[in-house]
Amino acid sequence: MVDLNELQKRIYKNKVEKKFNLTNIPQEFCYLHGEVTESFDAWLKKKGTEAVSLELADVAIFTLGIAEMLGIDLEAALLKKIEINEKRVYIDGKKVENI
Ligand SMILES: [Mg+2]
Repeated sequence: MVDLNELQKRIYKNKVEKKFNLTNIPQEFCYLHGEVTESFDAWLKKKGTEAVSLELADVAIFTLGIAEMLGIDLEAALLKKIEINEKRVYIDGKKVENI
């Protein structure tokens, strides 16, 4: 089982050790956006599962890194949001009830 909190701390530690950006949040969101684009591009150009999976991993790495920079427990947020989504009611693809 993956411990997201541990991964979040490990990703941040790597950023510290490599002297990567630790404070410029807008820059990190731009990089995250870039990784989403790279993922889509890898999929669109049929670069293969390995390429797509590594780009999606970059998306997760940047997301977890931003969460740590902002002091967010992403594991707790994920569990909360998944529960919210599971309770949402849709009819013909349209939301009819919000929790
Ligand atoms: Mg990438």
